[in-house]
Amino acid sequence: MSKADYYEVLGVTREVSDQELKSAYRKLALKFHPDRNPGNHAAEEKFKEASEAYQVLSDADKRAAYDRYGHAGVSAAGAGGFGGPFAGSVDLGDIFGDLFGEMFNVGGGQQRGTRQRRGDDLRYDLTIDFEDAVFGSETEVKIRRWETCEPCHGSGSASGRGPSVCPQCHGRGQIRYQQGFFSVARTCTTCAGTGSIINDPCPICRGETRVSKELKLNVKVPPGVEEGTRIRYAGEGDAGRSAGPNGDLYVILSIRAHDFFEREGHNLHCVIPISFPQAALGAEIEIPAIDGSVTLKIPEGTQSGRELSIRGRGVPFLNERGRGDLIVKVLVQVPKKLSRAQRELVAELAESLIVDNKPASPGLLEKMKDLFN
Ligand SMILES: [Zn+2]
Ligand SMILES: [Zn+2]
Repeated sequence: MSKADYYEVLGVTREVSDQELKSAYRKLALKFHPDRNPGNHAAEEKFKEASEAYQVLSDADKRAAYDRYGHAGVSAAGAGGFGGPFAGSVDLGDIFGDLFGEMFNVGGGQQRGTRQRRGDDLRYDLTIDFEDAVFGSETEVKIRRWETCEPCHGSGSASGRGPSVCPQCHGRGQIRYQQGFFSVARTCTTCAGTGSIINDPCPICRGETRVSKELKLNVKVPPGVEEGTRIRYAGEGDAGRSAGPNGDLYVILSIRAHDFFEREGHNLHCVIPISFPQAALGAEIEIPAIDGSVTLKIPEGTQSGRELSIRGRGVPFLNERGRGDLIVKVLVQVPKKLSRAQRELVAELAESLIVDNKPASPGLLEKMKDLFN
């Protein structure tokens, strides 16, 4: 949606004096003030519109920026000031009092150089190894971004003077002409609607005020990051036009899978095969952890598929002390080949597990019958 021209909103010409501007706004503010038009949304909008227009045009710097660049010249720096306590919440007492003085600085504040605009935020997708996400890492990445043109200091002009008001449209960005009874506006072709032109473009940036550059950046990944973790580098995004402030850089992490460990939050999971005797008698075995090895205590009579936790050997908490756990699922292996002696031993074991000529688990036979019926 295109915004209405501030001068048109206040019903004044571009040559309006401060005094005329003030009285034009006073009239509109009184007419459309929300206290006088309770529940009237259209009036409230008009009040806000007029207030915003006055806030910009009553400030010499902002007015100059608006004259040159239109709404684009004031929106970035001033946007914060138009909402908040100011818009629509002025009481009538203030309108008659100090409304036209200091209060227009509430929220927005006086900002010089409003013709500058903040650069864009950048996104860099970085894929890191599983271990690097667990323990943190440092990676050098190459990014391409806009940087303020050094030779012209972001003015875009060889002389450093910057843009001047377009002589064709006098900064309006539009040319009006009469067609029959109608006044028709078209975008100024001399300045492409920007309202300003550069007479002596900088030979390096050709008037762009910025140049595209590739540079290396060191990305520090803290321990404990997760898939999709966003790291913000303030001020490392694109430079703004006309030496405006930089946007931010966001590095978005994605993590490669691990052959052995799986991650669930701050816990690590793995599967370890154990032998039947280890499961039956209990054992202590060395298993790999993400950081070296660790002793796993298998209690006597451990069933296949049981999960055993080793505290504090998981993933470090991001920006906090402590770590998650390592959760080991044990799978009891059945030997595929047995020697004659081993067979005899197992048979002997089987024999001893049968009490009164019945299998050790009496319910089992019943279950099997059910299965085959
Ligand atoms: Zn023009
Ligand atoms: Zn330049």
